[in-house]
Amino acid sequence: MDLNTVTEVAHPRTRAQLPVWTAGDAWLAGGTWLFSEPQVHLTRLIDLTDFKWPALSVGATGLTIAATCTVAQLDAFACPPEWLAAPLINQCCRAYLASFKIWKTATVGGNLCMSLPAGPMISLTAALDGICTIWKADGSEQKVKVADFVIADQRNRRRVPFNCRLQRTHKPKNCGRRCFTTSPTRSIMMTFTASRRGAST
Ligand SMILES: Cc1cc2nc3c(=O)[nH]c(=O)nc-3n(C[C@H](O)[C@H](O)[C@H](O)COP(=O)(O)OP(=O)(O)OC[C@H]3O[C@@H](n4cnc5c(N)ncnc54)[C@H](O)[C@@H]3O)c2cc1C
Repeated sequence: MDLNTVTEVAHPRTRAQLPVWTAGDAWLAGGTWLFSEPQVHLTRLIDLTDFKWPALSVGATGLTIAATCTVAQLDAFACPPEWLAAPLINQCCRAYLASFKIWKTATVGGNLCMSLPAGPMISLTAALDGICTIWKADGSEQKVKVADFVIADQRNRRRVPFNCRLQRTHKPKNCGRRCFTTSPTRSIMMTFTASRRGAST
């Protein structure tokens, strides 16, 4: 859908190039929701894709997922075989009500920031003890657990660019059994991980 009130699209490549936030601004990620309904209050989009954050990287602290990582990129990620909770990644990527056309461009960050009740990336990253890195307007960063980031239906702590970092808990040392379930209408989705010591939740 055309967003007729939008007159400008900013393409910052670095944090220093971010324009000063004004009323009528919105971050643009994959645009799958943004362009799916009228946004008459918007006049400018700030496109996050030119930051060119690496979609996925594995380091000493675990897996880092860029906010701009698409669901398709995450689904195609070849996890180390010893990551016991790895199957959750594909299960959650394929839990969208949307078709593959959507998840080719929909991003992980966009899903968290939408904060819909059946947000598969919310369930996934919360279950894996994900941590959001939030850029604050004063130039500093804030770390917030995904579980604390989403507060309610379409409400979250902050709508600013962030990267989501998953901690080591998805590695075999700490992560054991997993369970994945959706309601028949997919209006609710839940994932659980359990410690090796045996809790069954
Ligand atoms: C047919 C269809 C089916 C869908 N099915 C589902 C579903 O099953 N479950 C579900 O949860 N959603 C669903 N959606 C909604 C939406 O497509 C997804 O939530 C998707 O993951 C949003 O990601 P995006 O990158 O396209 O976000 P965008 O559309 O680009 O942005 C969504 C919102 O988040 C903000 N935003 C995006 N990225 C950031 C960021 N990094 N920092 C701060 N703010 C940001 C934007 O400003 C905007 O307000 C569906 C949409 C369609 C059209």
